[in-house]
Amino acid sequence: QQPVAVIGAGIAGIATAARLAVAGYPVTVFEAGPTFGGKMQQFALPGGYRFDAGPSLFTLPQLVDDIFRLAGRRPEDYFRYERLDPITHYFFADGARLTAWADAGKFATEVEAKLGTPAAEVTRFLSRAGKAYDATAGTFLHKSLHKAGTYFSPETLKAVAALPQLGLLGTMHQRHETAFGQDARLVQLFDRYATYNGSDPYQAPATLSMIPHLEHGIGAFYPEGGIYAIAESLVKLATEFGVKFRYNEAVEEIITADKQVTGLRTALDVYDFGRVVSNMDVVPTYRRLLPHQPAPERTLAQPRSSSALIFYWGIARAFPELDVHNIFFSADYQAEFKAIFEEKTVADDVTVYVNITSKKTPADAPPGHENWFVMVNVPHDQGQDWDALTQKTRATVLRKLRQALGTDIEPLIAAEKTWTPPGIAADTSSFGGALYGSSSNNPLAAFLRHPNFSGRLDGLYFCGGSVHPGGGIPLCLLSAKIVSSLINEG
Ligand code: FAD
Repeated sequence: QQPVAVIGAGIAGIATAARLAVAGYPVTVFEAGPTFGGKMQQFALPGGYRFDAGPSLFTLPQLVDDIFRLAGRRPEDYFRYERLDPITHYFFADGARLTAWADAGKFATEVEAKLGTPAAEVTRFLSRAGKAYDATAGTFLHKSLHKAGTYFSPETLKAVAALPQLGLLGTMHQRHETAFGQDARLVQLFDRYATYNGSDPYQAPATLSMIPHLEHGIGAFYPEGGIYAIAESLVKLATEFGVKFRYNEAVEEIITADKQVTGLRTALDVYDFGRVVSNMDVVPTYRRLLPHQPAPERTLAQPRSSSALIFYWGIARAFPELDVHNIFFSADYQAEFKAIFEEKTVADDVTVYVNITSKKTPADAPPGHENWFVMVNVPHDQGQDWDALTQKTRATVLRKLRQALGTDIEPLIAAEKTWTPPGIAADTSSFGGALYGSSSNNPLAAFLRHPNFSGRLDGLYFCGGSVHPGGGIPLCLLSAKIVSSLINEG
């Protein structure tokens, strides 16, 4: 097999390298940073706190298992995880609280008791989401949407035809209003799933209403040791199959001749490769590594997804009323998304997500302490004054947490670090610090993402959150599956 180069050791780059190595390809991964993981990074703060820097919610773990099985290995020898129950603690702006239990029936009963919507309506909504997912995932997520074979296959036509019957026309928010009428809190709860790919529920298509099925139908999971264990376990497998990881070696140019990729140039050397997979964001791949090639401008101009402002806090106290995933909703969700996607700023009231891995991995914080990952959705970087927005948002977050928990959090902060959109862009080369590449704020977004291969240059492929099928760990893993199939089919 011909050698393959992968640019970037993000989760999709690692998974692509592992899959190709298992298929017999010699693979070299070039990573600009000092280690693997990209957005799926981990770090420590003084005083004994460990944090996962980026992703915190893990769904579809079987996509990780698949890679170990493909290699003929037992997944549990590399990577273990548990299904979370409860999934999330919700705190609404009016003081109501709700626990999302893993069992859909128990969750529906809790909704009826706490918010008033009959349990049967919740289970009906979730079961339709499951049906919609089953009808469409095989076509829209597991295959390249840009090969005629997929596009015009009977399966795709069936999937597209199924959408109206499944009540999936209009926006996500409209879909939830139709399902839950006046229960504004339940609408808000389900609208939030738009943020799972950095989108706006008031614009995103109703097809995204199937995202809750991932958590409530299939499950939310916690990897033993935290999210970083996903990257670690796959790097271990890849290394066993001979993948070479070259850290601190940023690729500066993809070399081409006669519409064919012929190699790479890094700061250290020039390498021959007939096949290159870019796992870096597709925008800088074209702008920086292929400056003399025509770029797919329409694709690159698609609106970016949201980014995030994250406060990592070592907290000198334990909060039994919190769990791994906790959401503190804003009072005006529409204003919050308008601020992000139209005004390109951060609203005065925001929804706050607190993730605490020390609930499951006690070693992540000293005894009696907790490691809080406190995240607010914000626009991607377009030159805003992030110092001012960070200060303002920190104050909002502290005020909201004090109101909801009845405790002043600020004096409990024993260690602190902040990650802003420009920081995310600088550390991972993600364009504007967008978390999920382009947003899904229009019905055609799935078709407008960059394909997993170049239409102009033979031997050039793309994986990762900025290309098809999209951002987030599961979709990144699927991009790796698609790219390795394309290379194998050759
Ligand atoms: P990236 O992680 O973007 O990595 C790309 C790599 O390429 C980097 O290591 C970078 O250094 C390297 N690189 C760039 N340029 C070069 C170059 N020229 N040469 C060599 N190397 C280069 N997803 C979820 O599923 N659940 C969540 O809860 C979730 N929450 C998130 C919260 C935050 C704060 C963030 C930042 C992301 C979150 N995501 C979540 C999204 C998820 O983390 C990403 O979709 C996924 O990790 C992206 O992986 P990737 O393979 O696209 O590569």
